[in-house]
Amino acid sequence: MTLTLSKVPVECRNIRLSYGSTPVLKDVSLAIEPGEFFALLGPSGSGKSTLLRLIAGFNRHQQGQLLVDGKDISGVPPHKRNIGMVFQSYALWPHMSVFDNVAFGLVERRVPKDEIRRRVGEALDTVGLADYAARRPNQLSGGQQQRVALARTIVIEPQVLLLDEPLSNLDKNLRVQMRQELLALQRRLGITTIFVTHDQEEAMTTADRMAVLDQGVVQQVGSPVALYDTPVNAFVATFVGTTNVLPARVTAQLADHVDVAIDGVGSLPLPVSALALPAVRSGDAVNVSFRPQALRLVVPGEAAGDGSVSGARALGVATIVSGEFLGEWTRYHLKLGPHSLIADRVHGPGGRQLVPGLAVTVSIDPAAVRIVPA
Ligand code: ADP
Repeated sequence: MTLTLSKVPVECRNIRLSYGSTPVLKDVSLAIEPGEFFALLGPSGSGKSTLLRLIAGFNRHQQGQLLVDGKDISGVPPHKRNIGMVFQSYALWPHMSVFDNVAFGLVERRVPKDEIRRRVGEALDTVGLADYAARRPNQLSGGQQQRVALARTIVIEPQVLLLDEPLSNLDKNLRVQMRQELLALQRRLGITTIFVTHDQEEAMTTADRMAVLDQGVVQQVGSPVALYDTPVNAFVATFVGTTNVLPARVTAQLADHVDVAIDGVGSLPLPVSALALPAVRSGDAVNVSFRPQALRLVVPGEAAGDGSVSGARALGVATIVSGEFLGEWTRYHLKLGPHSLIADRVHGPGGRQLVPGLAVTVSIDPAAVRIVPA
């Protein structure tokens, strides 16, 4: 028997929290759907842990509302909230068996012994550790310890599961394996789960949706694909994936397209759908953002190959500065006028590596460009 848990919505409404006079969360609003696997992504110090601990009840916000299953629990102390949190350190008791670690919360709640046995058995089954009940934490791998920490949290049947950097204590290979396991477990349990990470790859590969935070402000909320394809500003474009950001100026805004002049490069007509701004006017300073794989590099004397994509617009002639061969593709650093660019080029059989100093024609598909605020 494995556990299934309730699915409830979690909502933050205009939450503000300051430490002393320093604002850390500035008007945070988020609506997390029932059963969602939701990531809080942002650089160190952006307020992710503060927000997670606030939902758990360890931090108090000064303004706003926190609703779980539609009820405002802002004033409810942590032990009276039915919220489970797995800490980055796992915080397992080293002198206790796996069984006793998992049973701990139920013993504290004075649950009858045979019910404890049944529920701990179910929780260990759910995380795939039914055969490890008698072991001590130091007899387990990092990944198994994490599963014990999860079992200990889900055994109390929380309404919401919070995970603080759940994979950061594991080595790289295990991290990749465990993120799929974690997602599979969350799907089995069905529980609304919010996890904190500074690792964009971890968030993108697992989250249904994510919120990108910077300096205590939610920059954007959406699915990984939406955030990658349609970032609202240069911060999100840069933090979610790799991007090129170049300063530009709007030269004309027409019904179906916007002309932008990239400083020191030239003009590009872009579809109106490229705009991440409500409206622009001729003369406005903006940034254009495009992914490394959106650039086409054509070497003089070579067939245009993928550089001939219909609608691609030439940006100019750039010089190769360096290349990193990554197997599937090569990442090139180029100089185009005053700008440094990154371009990824797919590597096929017999594919040639472009050497530093080589001049290449750079073009781009206008549909792959975003116009973001300067
Ligand atoms: P993240 O989890 O994104 O790395 P945190 O939520 O831990 O960020 O921290 C956000 C900001 O709040 C940081 O500037 C941090 O220094 C500050 N901060 C965190 N906890 C406290 C505290 N207890 N007292 C004062 N400042 C704090």
